[in-house]
Amino acid sequence: MTLRWIFGDQLGPHFVSDTDDRLLMIESARVFARRRFHRQKAHLVLSAMRHRAAELGDRVDYVRADTYQQALNGIREPLTVCSPTTYAAEEFVRRQPRIDVLPARGFTTSREDFEEWAGRRGAKRLLMEDFYREARVRLGVLVDGSSPVGGQWNFDHDNRDAPPRAKTLGTPEPWWPEEDEIDEEVRADLDRWEREGQASFVGVDGPRRFAVTRSEALQALKRFIVDRLPDFGPYEDAMLSGDDWMAHSLLSAPLNLGLLDPLEVVDLAEAAYRSGDAPLASVEGFVRQLIGWRDYIWHLYWHFGPDYRRRNKLLAQRKIPSWFTDLDSAGEVEARCLSEVLRGVREHGWVHHIPRLMVLGNYAMQRGWNPVEVTDWFHRSFVDGYDWVMVPNVVGMSQYADGGALATKPYAAGGAYIDKMSDFCGDCRYNPKVRVGEDACPFTAGYWWFLDRNADRLRGNQRIARQLSARNRLSDLAELVTQEQERGSDTP
Ligand code: SF4
Repeated sequence: MTLRWIFGDQLGPHFVSDTDDRLLMIESARVFARRRFHRQKAHLVLSAMRHRAAELGDRVDYVRADTYQQALNGIREPLTVCSPTTYAAEEFVRRQPRIDVLPARGFTTSREDFEEWAGRRGAKRLLMEDFYREARVRLGVLVDGSSPVGGQWNFDHDNRDAPPRAKTLGTPEPWWPEEDEIDEEVRADLDRWEREGQASFVGVDGPRRFAVTRSEALQALKRFIVDRLPDFGPYEDAMLSGDDWMAHSLLSAPLNLGLLDPLEVVDLAEAAYRSGDAPLASVEGFVRQLIGWRDYIWHLYWHFGPDYRRRNKLLAQRKIPSWFTDLDSAGEVEARCLSEVLRGVREHGWVHHIPRLMVLGNYAMQRGWNPVEVTDWFHRSFVDGYDWVMVPNVVGMSQYADGGALATKPYAAGGAYIDKMSDFCGDCRYNPKVRVGEDACPFTAGYWWFLDRNADRLRGNQRIARQLSARNRLSDLAELVTQEQERGSDTP
């Protein structure tokens, strides 16, 4: 008899065939002993695996072992497994003599289709927008034939509103789970591991905020589509200090656990548009995140190869400081945007894509923190962070450490962007308009310092040429550079 091994991020029904009578799951304690993960991330992954095992009952052998190899040493049957989501795990399963590795699942474009698309581009650079449009046509999503519904492919322009002048968006609450006895058991295990020194975590414990079963994930999905999707588009890039969730779906965690198939999510979003329950701009923005960005990032992880994670074209060598990584110094951080966003990560293990990219990642890049360390931190600290997500997102998108293979320009911005897209600056002790002096915003000054430091490396990039030449006209540039060199990675 053949056993189907399912990894902890392959928990949905689409990772198992009807003919798979017997299943294997391995809970490896060493994963949590090696690195300091967010407490809620460890809880989510273990809770999801144990819930799945409870659902499968007698069909599954649930093995608790120090390592995968130890667990496999006790198994005699041949195994099948869907291709895992990291280089390390893929190499591991391919080394095993009795494992048949099946194609990956859980994405909308196959690796073959992606590579065929990438190969067809010839000398043209890879662009998410082009990949996404082809995927829309191939999958028949938001298209009439080969034309986009509504006459345009991209509604980014409509989806960049500043937040309203209110404490919250006023969108109905997301779906929240109710914890059960499996969560209690996970909590007790994690407490014990910490007490006994087997693991150490960052961030605060629960309550659990994200779906861990298929049934919970479907409830979270339906609540989002019905109540929250209409507000998603216009405010998808906005940040409010009193509204941690805004109109975001919170589905990245269950999607990355493999509990939902991205196409079923997209189909429901499209149905909401076709029935007149959600505006096209919101639906397109959401669909773009799934069959566009999510798939694109997955494929680039494999396309760029295993060494991509170590790229460091901007030669950023500074060590990432503990006031940032340990998540317990947010109260000491005077820069209100950073303080608020770090609080969100500490409390939930989650903030949406703009605080990740334009506050945390932007600051790391401006300060010149080592991209390998920054990638590791994002992976450990976010409930939805996995190697395949974080390597391209952080190395390429957020830190520009690949020199522009993924993004067409560095996502660097000063305080003016944060001021426009959030309510953070009003109560901050810094002033987003000030570059030099006591009130100098560390993001505004950091932006010019970053450009100045990297001017030679960025020359030739037309998308940043105007800003590079504007820097030469700053009368206080030398003073600013000295100021920021002194500030360095100190708590701002
Ligand atoms: Fe952040 Fe600068 Fe605004 Fe303060 S003034 S919240 S440091 S962007």
